[in-house]
Amino acid sequence: MRTIASLKGIEGARVLLRSDFNVPIKDGVISDDGRIRASLPTINHLRSLGAKVIIVAHLGRPKGERNLELSLAPVAQRLSELLDVAVPLLPTGYGPETELHISQMNNGDVMLVENIRFEARETSKNDPDRIELASQLAQNADFFVSDGFGAVHRKHASVYDVAKLLPSVAGFLVEAEVEVLKKLTLNPARPYGVVLGGAKVSDKLGVIDNLLSKVDLLAIGGGMVFTFLAANGLSVGKSLLESDQIERVKEFISRAEKLGVKLLLPTDIVVASEFSAQALPRTVKSTEIADEDLGLDIGPESALSFANSIQDCHTLFWNGPMGVFEFHQFSHGTHSIAKALTEVDGLAVVGGGDSAAAVRRLGFSDDEFGYISTGGGASLEYLEGKELPGLSVLSQ
Ligand code: ADP
Ligand code: MG
Repeated sequence: MRTIASLKGIEGARVLLRSDFNVPIKDGVISDDGRIRASLPTINHLRSLGAKVIIVAHLGRPKGERNLELSLAPVAQRLSELLDVAVPLLPTGYGPETELHISQMNNGDVMLVENIRFEARETSKNDPDRIELASQLAQNADFFVSDGFGAVHRKHASVYDVAKLLPSVAGFLVEAEVEVLKKLTLNPARPYGVVLGGAKVSDKLGVIDNLLSKVDLLAIGGGMVFTFLAANGLSVGKSLLESDQIERVKEFISRAEKLGVKLLLPTDIVVASEFSAQALPRTVKSTEIADEDLGLDIGPESALSFANSIQDCHTLFWNGPMGVFEFHQFSHGTHSIAKALTEVDGLAVVGGGDSAAAVRRLGFSDDEFGYISTGGGASLEYLEGKELPGLSVLSQ
């Protein structure tokens, strides 16, 4: 993979930088700016070399429409505070305004292009559409630096196609992320455990399929746990459930047994009768979830047993909160797992936007973990052994 150290002739050049600014924003307020801070080393480096830095990023899934709720304006503001320099936000479509602005930039200036996913061509499955957008981006730049690690598993115009049109390299963040993921995949110190939770159930079932042959321990919490409990014949009440995945999960369970992988499922669950910040938590046995119960966290007995197994591992990767950590009464499972990770004798990695936000929100500091990855899906796909288009294009 080509890296930023190999870039020559940067002074005065227009550098198109793909960053990952997909941060949690509510009512215009950023609740976790971890991904913005993670982008600073590359931006500062490019500025110090005298580049004109044109940043492209996305926020959420606007599906090709200009949805102002998904504007990058709060990000431009935060970035400007962190860099201590003005960061103007320009429209996505490279109209005369943006082109004029770029032509008038001074060395060391930074600008941000509005949410690139306002353009349907960014994520189009049709190659010529994406290439058209990528060409527009490339026409107004001399180099491409890929640093939006959270999006490198996507074959998108600003991640993949544009890298083919300009001299392109990986930024410091992408370099650091790949370094850590290599440690997790090439000969990890054993026992090697993976803890999965969160809400994107069907996405993560594919990961389990591939990881089963690689890990010694797999602990499951969060929303996906109910599909596992249901596969074991238990009732899960009103909890998150993907009934069409039950057969697949049954197969995972029997394969884990055959491979000798320790598959940990919670024996108790914190339930409530409604999904709300005021909901009253009750702990029940996993075998006794009532029809009206909604499972929102793993219970204390499970948290303890998960934590004990985690501490026995010498390599650990965790993606996905154990419960709805956004509500304090359902955050204890996630807290226990985070705490256990900080006590691992070996490499402990937290990956995923919400997972990273959760550990910070629960009061942990970044340096208590081996590494906090900015990528959720990207890290998982790497661990699965898949080829990530946004990375492989940087080696071609
Ligand atoms: P990441 O961004 O770290 O990859 P996800 O996006 O998959 O994680 O999932 C994070 C979300 O999962 C959180 O908002 C959390 O509230 C939710 N979640 C966790 N457990 C449950 C549950 N039991 N039911 C519903 N949602 C859950
Ligand atoms: Mg998420």
